[in-house]
Amino acid sequence: MWVLCGSFPFSLLRAVCSILLSDSVTFQQIETYTSKNKGYQAELDVVTYRQNRNEIEDNSKFRILLSFGQHARELITTELALKILSILSGEQSLPKRNPVLLNRTLQNTVIKVVPIENLNGRRKVEAGELCERRNGLASFRRGVDLNRNWSVDWGKKEEDFRPDEENPGTGPFSEPESQMMRKLSTSFEPHLWVNVHSGMEALFMPYDHKNTTPKGVQSGKMKLILETLNHLHCGDRCVVGSGGGYLAHGTTTDYMFDIAKIPMAFTFEIYGDEKADINDCFKMFNPVDHPTFNRVLDEWSAAFFTMFEMGAHQMNFLQESPFNVGNLISIDDYLNGYLMERKSRYGEKKELLDLGLQEIRTYFRLFLLSSVLLLFMFCSRITKTNRSLVSSVSL
Ligand SMILES: [Zn+2]
Repeated sequence: MWVLCGSFPFSLLRAVCSILLSDSVTFQQIETYTSKNKGYQAELDVVTYRQNRNEIEDNSKFRILLSFGQHARELITTELALKILSILSGEQSLPKRNPVLLNRTLQNTVIKVVPIENLNGRRKVEAGELCERRNGLASFRRGVDLNRNWSVDWGKKEEDFRPDEENPGTGPFSEPESQMMRKLSTSFEPHLWVNVHSGMEALFMPYDHKNTTPKGVQSGKMKLILETLNHLHCGDRCVVGSGGGYLAHGTTTDYMFDIAKIPMAFTFEIYGDEKADINDCFKMFNPVDHPTFNRVLDEWSAAFFTMFEMGAHQMNFLQESPFNVGNLISIDDYLNGYLMERKSRYGEKKELLDLGLQEIRTYFRLFLLSSVLLLFMFCSRITKTNRSLVSSVSL
């Protein structure tokens, strides 16, 4: 076991450290980065999970980068980061999971977790500013939305633009937090990126700045992961697709996909209380009772590990599909797995997984339509035959 623990200002990160120091941990590391801009300093703590003993081996592994707490008031996201780290350390376990498959996935995977991307914003929330989502210390009043400070379509403002919420900064990457995250993505070169938020239940893929999803096979694979997570872990309640019903410019995920070329780039929204009073930010973005708190963490941590397995399989780091019969959780999942494991009718090794659920649905609709048409033709023919029989009878 090799653990580096800095002097963390938050009890939360000390908690991470104590998880990592527990005997059951395989191999984890915490690093703290700092960056300054015009007297404004920000820190970024990054926890790395890997089973190999050196960074050189990372190059041949499936690499995952996860960020939580980019918006300060969305505290539940950091709780999820802790839960995932706790499971990775062996301190907590995942129910209904094939341990062999999970272990095989994790052996070939390196995961970097940023539990609180917006540490200075979090300080403001903990000091009582419960509606704060931007960065900045009180003395510096920066107030930039870190999810609008990236370079893809930066600075464009929609009609409903709210400067108090969505300030994009003085230019792309004006904020130290964004600079550090960009550096991390460049040096680590992940295959999978997730930006975790709260405010609603959603599984988003690019693009945020336009109303479309990317074209091609890779986009189909991303969609399939999201549809599967929605079905298995979100009770089909999650909004799936691009954006959130509104356009956002200069977002992290659009950059990670378009510029950093991360093949799987997502934004997850893990909880929201849409009935909460607009002034009650804590309730809008975070569960306020224990059962809901636990449900959110249980469902979403399970979703993340399913995504790790699916992603590793799709990127060819894991031979077995998580949907093999032996690994299935329920009969419903069995049907999904059955569809995904079948070879295409052209006999190629391409799985239906590659076709995407959307295409499967389209085929099913076409099949239904043609059945109805055939039935209609059949019925009309019978009617005609009967009519001709009747007319041939002399009156
Ligand atoms: Zn957010």
